[in-house]
Amino acid sequence: MRKKKTDSTPDSGLRTPDSHRVWAEVDRAAVKHNLRAIRKAASGARVLAVLKANAYGHGAIEMARLLVSEGVDCLGVGDSGEALELRLAGIKAPILIVGGIVPGEMPAVVERGIEANLHTVSMAEDLNAEAARQKRVARVQLKIDTGMGRLGMQPFDAVPFLHRLRELKNLKLVGLNTHFSYPYEQNPDFTLRQLERFHVAVEVARRLGYGDVLLHASSSLALFRHPEARFNMVRPGVALWGLAPGDDSGIAKKLKPVLSLKTRVLFIKDVPEGQPIGYNRTYYTSTQSRIATMPVGYNDGYRRSLSNKAEVLINGVRCPVVGLVSMDYLTVDVTMAREVAVGDEVILLGGEGDKRISMETLSGWAQCSPYEISCGMGRRVARVYV
Ligand SMILES: *Cc1c(COP(=O)(O)O)cnc(C)c1O
Repeated sequence: MRKKKTDSTPDSGLRTPDSHRVWAEVDRAAVKHNLRAIRKAASGARVLAVLKANAYGHGAIEMARLLVSEGVDCLGVGDSGEALELRLAGIKAPILIVGGIVPGEMPAVVERGIEANLHTVSMAEDLNAEAARQKRVARVQLKIDTGMGRLGMQPFDAVPFLHRLRELKNLKLVGLNTHFSYPYEQNPDFTLRQLERFHVAVEVARRLGYGDVLLHASSSLALFRHPEARFNMVRPGVALWGLAPGDDSGIAKKLKPVLSLKTRVLFIKDVPEGQPIGYNRTYYTSTQSRIATMPVGYNDGYRRSLSNKAEVLINGVRCPVVGLVSMDYLTVDVTMAREVAVGDEVILLGGEGDKRISMETLSGWAQCSPYEISCGMGRRVARVYV
């Protein structure tokens, strides 16, 4: 039975499913399944779903709607642009910009009721002034640097900060959070040290009257590996999409892959032995071969590092990528999959029957992280929700 598909690409009115040259299929049921697995692991803690980078390439609006309807408590984004996109799509759930904001983002953040992380007293004062100007109260969180060394204040600096915050009447502190630098490290010592430092800040906040705020530290892997770091909210991103690189807890094995990347055959030709293929002639056919060209390239996120390395699935047969991946095109040796025809579906990532090119395999070939593959899918890639 053919599954119902919807397409929410901005120009979906212009493009029909048959006209897609390259598309990402997002399996909604798998996202729901993964959320249930996360909920179970979180054992009662609230869930902030991290949807930065367009939900890691899966489409932030679609994923936000799905996750909010499944009861996710809060959404996390990367910047005010991503937050506004969700607000303009009518999403009313709390939204936190999980990193930091630049001063110019303050007016929009206040106006649209988006939570920002604060890292310094002067930043709090500026945001308070903006909120006062708009006659609003801005919900804010405090980021603590416990060892990531990227954003946030040192735990003991929370003392003067929170004293000053009491005087800033247009700010309301709703949370305290930190981020682990390497939750999947085999040796948990550093993560545990980060955790101790966070406890110091939590205790400072409690003593200064902020005892009932949201406390969160765990991204996907910490959530699975460090139950003691769940506090009252967890902050998964990649696990929602069925991935947990480096996980050995066993929980991640219960996650389901969400994303497939597909294209179709555009052109087929039979070439003799010794024929160069692609830019720079990095590949020559070693025998008479059938070469198929697909309309996908590095502009779509199919990286150049996959050249002469990756395989794709065509009619259930694994066929090697030959020659350099170019901006818009990919060449594949389909000699072993004889019945290939123009228009046939090609799986770059995902499965068909018992054959699968997993995200781990693809990112291994590309020598990058799975995050980079899904975030790297270009804007020409239609997102199709099944
Ligand atoms: C990206 C991010 C997360 C989610 O991390 P995953 O490894 O994808 O689960 C959580 N917190 C912060 C601050 C992040 O930047």
